[in-house]
Amino acid sequence: MSITTASSEQAMEKKRLRIAIQKSGRLTDDTEKLFRAAGLKFNESRDHLLAHAENLPIDILRVRDDDIPGLVMDHVVDLGIVGQNVLEETAMQREVDGMPTGYTQVMIMNFGDCRLSVAVPSEDDWHGLKDLEGKKIATTYPFLLRRVLKAQGVNYKAVILNGSVEVAPRAGLADAICDLVCTGATLQSNGLKEVETVYTSKAVLISRDQPLYPEKQRMLDILVQRFKGIMAAAESKYIMMNAPKARLEEIRKILPGAENPSIIALDGNPDRVAMHVVSREKVFWETLEQLKKLGATSILVVPIEKMLD
Ligand code: ATP
Ligand code: ZN
Repeated sequence: MSITTASSEQAMEKKRLRIAIQKSGRLTDDTEKLFRAAGLKFNESRDHLLAHAENLPIDILRVRDDDIPGLVMDHVVDLGIVGQNVLEETAMQREVDGMPTGYTQVMIMNFGDCRLSVAVPSEDDWHGLKDLEGKKIATTYPFLLRRVLKAQGVNYKAVILNGSVEVAPRAGLADAICDLVCTGATLQSNGLKEVETVYTSKAVLISRDQPLYPEKQRMLDILVQRFKGIMAAAESKYIMMNAPKARLEEIRKILPGAENPSIIALDGNPDRVAMHVVSREKVFWETLEQLKKLGATSILVVPIEKMLD
């Protein structure tokens, strides 16, 4: 009996892609939205560690983001979605600890953007990273910080905090901090100013550094194609307008990333045509105003849900 169970588990392991994602945090909503858009359906609530997709051979493992790189590097899961900041920091830490650090970056996602910056009390002068010489710096990312300051030849003392980094200077624990920033509002409310960005980060999809079973690789290829389609669609717009035939060349020039427009004759109007085009870049009001100046009318910009080239 136990033999049957073990072998059926092994068979499952060969077939179902296992992806680690953040259980609850800044990457969670975007990751889950992407999975839903890619057609994955999960029944289980967020409280379940492991969730099985009903309609595809994919399982997700919900964990803290800090655990994701290690789960991939230790081959516990096939894939993970995590911030590059956490990925690189963990890889450097594991290197020091003599643990495996291999992984493959499959794709960069269009979410999770943030930067790791040095901030100092607002009233401090700032001339550059050299000002940190001999200072105490609070951070959750000692390795990323060291990489930058070592290159600058700055000697400092790291104070490692896994939360509330921004209160460290006021609490007298540090002279400066090196922390993740998005808007800078948190820094300001703690009497700090951002003075130097040391690392910029996005969320990435990574896989283990070992070939996957063929069924899993096929599933991964499909998933990546869908993710790319969703991300491309998010940027793109479908533009429709009526335009004077004589100005078509000029109109094409001002539409960013618009390839091969469809030109459709307008019944009873030999001088004007309908033009339909997919623009792969953001369409700004300024562009529409320019189109209007060139004689375009009935301009419509509509979102695209899915895209497959
Ligand atoms: P966990 O409980 O999973 O350990 P956490 O508190 O460490 O979560 P979050 O604050 O949820 O982590 O951030 C997760 C990741 O999201 C960050 O490591 C970073 O890559 C990314 N991120 C995106 N936007 C921001 C932001 N505004 N501030 C901080 N991190 C951001
Ligand atoms: Zn974390």
